[in-house]
Amino acid sequence: MSVRPTPPEVDRVAAARAAVTARRARATIKSDVASRKRTALDVAETAWAAVASAEAGLRVTELLMSIPSLGPTRTEHLMAELAISPKKRTGGLGLRQREKLRNYLQLRAGGAPNRLLVLAGPTAVGKGTVSMYIRENYPNVVVSVSATTRTPRPGEVDGVHYYFVSDAEFDRKIASGELLEWAVVHNSFRYGTPRPPIDAALAANKNVLLEIDLQGARAVRRVMPEAILVFLLPPSWDELVRRLIGRGTEDPAEQTRRLETAKVELAAQDEFDFRVVNTEVSQAAREVVELMAVPGAEHGAAR
Ligand code: 5GP
Repeated sequence: MSVRPTPPEVDRVAAARAAVTARRARATIKSDVASRKRTALDVAETAWAAVASAEAGLRVTELLMSIPSLGPTRTEHLMAELAISPKKRTGGLGLRQREKLRNYLQLRAGGAPNRLLVLAGPTAVGKGTVSMYIRENYPNVVVSVSATTRTPRPGEVDGVHYYFVSDAEFDRKIASGELLEWAVVHNSFRYGTPRPPIDAALAANKNVLLEIDLQGARAVRRVMPEAILVFLLPPSWDELVRRLIGRGTEDPAEQTRRLETAKVELAAQDEFDFRVVNTEVSQAAREVVELMAVPGAEHGAAR
């Protein structure tokens, strides 16, 4: 068995001093990012340019956590999406991880404040329930009301759940460019997102949530690449089937058709920036809201 030689006392003292200096330097970097003196992107670029720098020694988690408005939940999500382990130091990232982190930080630095969030996911996963919960409990978030050509279900109110419009009116909206996106959903009716309320909300620095289908999410990504795309997942496939059958709003043929669509939709989850599992509505809603930089979201639902 080899015995590791004990370093001379003088070296150990020097090493301890160096460690203290490095820790202090990292603390300064974090407070500079927190006070917006420096951007996280600048810190990351410095880390990648100089492997021995204090920036390189900073853990990615700590770097992200120092960004104002990125709370612990959002950081944790982000680390998972970037496939970076929590202990990883900024200087130790692989090329692909650097690329992904750089893209994310550039997006933030580009003044795109991630205030438009698209919530999509397979049929019956509970997107509507989660968005309704957000509408009722997070008044800082504007939940977009779509236009649709389908008829109202019992309890649905025009202007609250949807704008229920005729085919002719929907045609007119398309022609006048009023819709940010629109799609035929489940091969039957047309659904579209009215653009003016969204532009107005964003101009007033509000956060906006769109609860739309996969085609809609893709369309929004094309026209507003800064939007955050969130995919809502069921806890399991069996649970999704149970929710679809249980809600009893579709006949058996329609249920089969929607389950087929759900399979295709689930396969698209990798196109999304974040995934949130809808086990419990208030928790899922909170996670979704935390993905937007909503003031106060980290502290739970606003009253
Ligand atoms: P439902 O008829 O059950 O209310 O909604 C059917 C589907 O239409 C849901 O998947 C919902 O996300 C989607 N949807 C609702 N509004 C819009 C919209 O404005 N655009 C798009 N593309 N899909 C929408």
